Amino acid sequence: MPLQFQTLINSRYDVVILGAGPSGSTASLYLSQKGIRHLLIDKCEFPRDKICGDALSGKVVYTLNRVAPGLVDEMVQLKEAFHPSWGISFYAPNGKNLEVPFKTDRSTDGRAPGFIASRADFDNFLFSKAKAGTADVVTSIEANQVDFEKDSVNILFSNGESTTASILIDATGAHSKLARLLDIKMEPLHHSAGLRQYYEGVEGLDADGFIELHFIKDILPGYFWIFPMTNNRANVGIGMLSDSVSKKKVNLKEELKKIIEHHPEISNRFKNAKPLESPRGWGLPMGSKKRNISSDRFIITGDAASLIDPFTGEGIGNGMISGRFAGEVCELALQENRFDADFLKEYDKRVYKYLGPEFRMSHQLQKMVNYPSLFNFVVNKGRKSKEFRDTLTAMFESVDLRKKFRDPRFYLRLLLNK
Ligand SMILES: Cc1cc2nc3c(=O)[nH]c(=O)nc-3n(C[C@H](O)[C@H](O)[C@H](O)COP(=O)(O)OP(=O)(O)OC[C@H]3O[C@@H](n4cnc5c(N)ncnc54)[C@H](O)[C@@H]3O)c2cc1C
Repeated sequence: MPLQFQTLINSRYDVVILGAGPSGSTASLYLSQKGIRHLLIDKCEFPRDKICGDALSGKVVYTLNRVAPGLVDEMVQLKEAFHPSWGISFYAPNGKNLEVPFKTDRSTDGRAPGFIASRADFDNFLFSKAKAGTADVVTSIEANQVDFEKDSVNILFSNGESTTASILIDATGAHSKLARLLDIKMEPLHHSAGLRQYYEGVEGLDADGFIELHFIKDILPGYFWIFPMTNNRANVGIGMLSDSVSKKKVNLKEELKKIIEHHPEISNRFKNAKPLESPRGWGLPMGSKKRNISSDRFIITGDAASLIDPFTGEGIGNGMISGRFAGEVCELALQENRFDADFLKEYDKRVYKYLGPEFRMSHQLQKMVNYPSLFNFVVNKGRKSKEFRDTLTAMFESVDLRKKFRDPRFYLRLLLNK
């Protein structure tokens, strides 16, 4: 049961987490694992929606296995909510597709490496697990003001009450106010705009739950997606770098409608489909620029810290990874009684050591989208050569291998390899 808020007045916590999305709930799961007293606050009541593509990658599975072993087993059993996904299908501007499995080896235990689940379902699942830990949990209250004192951080809430902590984790998502203290703001070259529209009855969805990314010529450098879900539903959407949206004066809603109604192949798949909502938009703050993501007595995670992958748009797994690192560094800070910016820089180091190489690589791939013929060439080659497909799969599993995309010799070898 959520606490009566009055019980929090004058209480002091080791850690307060603002926001109980994937990043905040993961930080909470980690702190609970370590028995650390903390408060988890969200302005919404769960289940709540979040505009998203709803694709849960292997990173989500990996992080859950680290912070709360057993949860993935439960997800597999919740067949109404979690749709298994084995890979990704890239459609090049020439309309040809290349299927890249998430894993080279399918033998394991028959369990898919990824899932697709509505964020209402996934976030509620994760939040309910966080609630069952050592956290005090309050929902439907917004943090309105944060004051940093010498020995504490004080948080003032929308109902006029307040609480105090040794350290604060900001997991409030793309519209974080605290992020501005670290000069993190919306930068069109490092930010994408996205629209989501749930559908029922889209035809031709992949039986193995492959998610589809379509790089359609008319909307480059943007992309259109169809992600299969449970109960004959699909998450359909469009995304584009915000800089291109404004420079090219693109109306994403119109482009989405045009593809669904008029694209020569895609529109056929929608002829018996029913939209379950109007298209809804949200921003994607991306990790293509390195930022300061901690300071005295606070740490910023997930979208608040701009940690979305610039090529794939993946932010759930990255947010969860940052939530785990935030938990680890809070644990260290409490052990050492050190909450100063210098000490908390350890958090920045861990995040960028893990995600930095991926961000750099994905930023390069994001730029490749501007060269449709190169994209067509890579996909055509991949269709013809199993060896190349296996290499691509391995590349998605390993950042070191992805470096090949930057190496001109890689394309030369492709050219020579019939
Ligand atoms: C169109 C679109 C498609 C996407 N597709 C994918 C995809 O398929 N796969 C993927 O991995 N990622 C995808 N992403 C990115 C993903 O949605 C985000 O990266 C992810 O939600 C980040 O999680 P988070 O916990 O950091 O923030 P959020 O999920 O935004 O959670 C923030 C929480 O903080 C709460 N909050 C906000 N302000 C306050 C406050 N002042 N006080 C208290 N609580 C507060 C909110 O209610 C919310 O619950 C997509 C994003 C968009 C926009």
